[in-house]
Amino acid sequence: MQIFETLYSMGHEQVVLCSDPTTGLRAIIGIHNTSLGPSLGGTRFWQYDTDEEAITDVLRLSRGMTYKAAVSGVNLGGGKAVIIGDPRKDKSEGLFRAFGRMVESLRGRYITAEDVGTSVRDMEWIRMETKYVTGVGGPGGSGDPSPVTALGVFSGMRAAAHATWGSDSLAGKRVVVQGAGNVATYLVESLVKDGATVFVADIYEEKAKALATRTGATLIAPSEVFTTPCDVFSPNALGAVINDETIPQLTCAIVCGGANNQLKDEATHAPMLRDRKIMYAPDYVVNSGGLMNVASEVEGYDRAKVMRQAEGVYDITMNIIKTAEERNMLTIEASNAIAEERLRKVRHVHGSYIGSPTIRGV
Ligand code: NAD
Repeated sequence: MQIFETLYSMGHEQVVLCSDPTTGLRAIIGIHNTSLGPSLGGTRFWQYDTDEEAITDVLRLSRGMTYKAAVSGVNLGGGKAVIIGDPRKDKSEGLFRAFGRMVESLRGRYITAEDVGTSVRDMEWIRMETKYVTGVGGPGGSGDPSPVTALGVFSGMRAAAHATWGSDSLAGKRVVVQGAGNVATYLVESLVKDGATVFVADIYEEKAKALATRTGATLIAPSEVFTTPCDVFSPNALGAVINDETIPQLTCAIVCGGANNQLKDEATHAPMLRDRKIMYAPDYVVNSGGLMNVASEVEGYDRAKVMRQAEGVYDITMNIIKTAEERNMLTIEASNAIAEERLRKVRHVHGSYIGSPTIRGV
């Protein structure tokens, strides 16, 4: 990998390699862009096959956080960290405290949080060494982000519904929800309350069955999510579910869900959805409630304000859809463009000097 060429082309400000042989720490912190504020993003604990794979992941993920924050109106930059190792075997207090000191040494340029493979307990170990960590339990902590994320997804779906059928309401619409986890649980409740006919599937059938029984949704098999006739397909499980195999099977008019990285390949699969006349509500926009939730922890957590912000995902999504129409772009292109415009404007505004210099003799 030509590291500086890669950093230049992806636009990263800083990449920090963190090593501590005594605790086994091998971590990489990626700071993509701090034009809007300190960079924030979770720490992923993952067994990468090569160091290059870990660097690629942290670069991609940290850049994604810049766009998510920029488009959702949050005053944070994009950052992310990866710790290389097996989350089932390699975690220890010493390792997370060593990582916490590395985070502390950046003096707030990077604020960490949970991600795949890390938990509240791990964040508490990091907290012993630095205050630049969110997602910690207890008073002042932001707690479970899922209800906020789900409200954002529901709000984004209402905007997509308005643009498609002329009404915000999902009443009478058939919505297939893939996954019956944290986000899906709250989303299904809102959809059923709104009068939608909801179908739900999970690879753990008992989870989907319990959710269906409790809410009045219909249980379907995981293999049926792409073929069940519906108006909205909502991915709330894993990424890359919108791909060459699944797009031809979809019957929906809208794809809108909480899962990250739904498109297997943005450049290929976003146009394929458009060609099939399926509106794609960009994943990082509609699932930004999770980021809004931890961002609030940085300023002093305010749940009511966060829920209002998550409802604002409606306006953000609508603006993206309108911009895409006006500029003849894909929705994902419009969303990226809006994020880049906000970054450019704020960087410009911050470009003028407003300090108070000390001038000798004056
Ligand atoms: P979760 O682990 O609680 O739920 C995911 C569910 O998907 C699990 O029940 C799992 O069994 C199921 N699943 C996995 N593969 C499946 C498949 N092929 N078919 C059907 N079900 C399958 O996770 P979550 O917190 O609800 O997050 C869901 C998605 O949303 C993830 O992609 C996550 O990255 C993203 N996300 C979550 C939040 C949040 O606040 N929790 C915020 C932003 C993005």
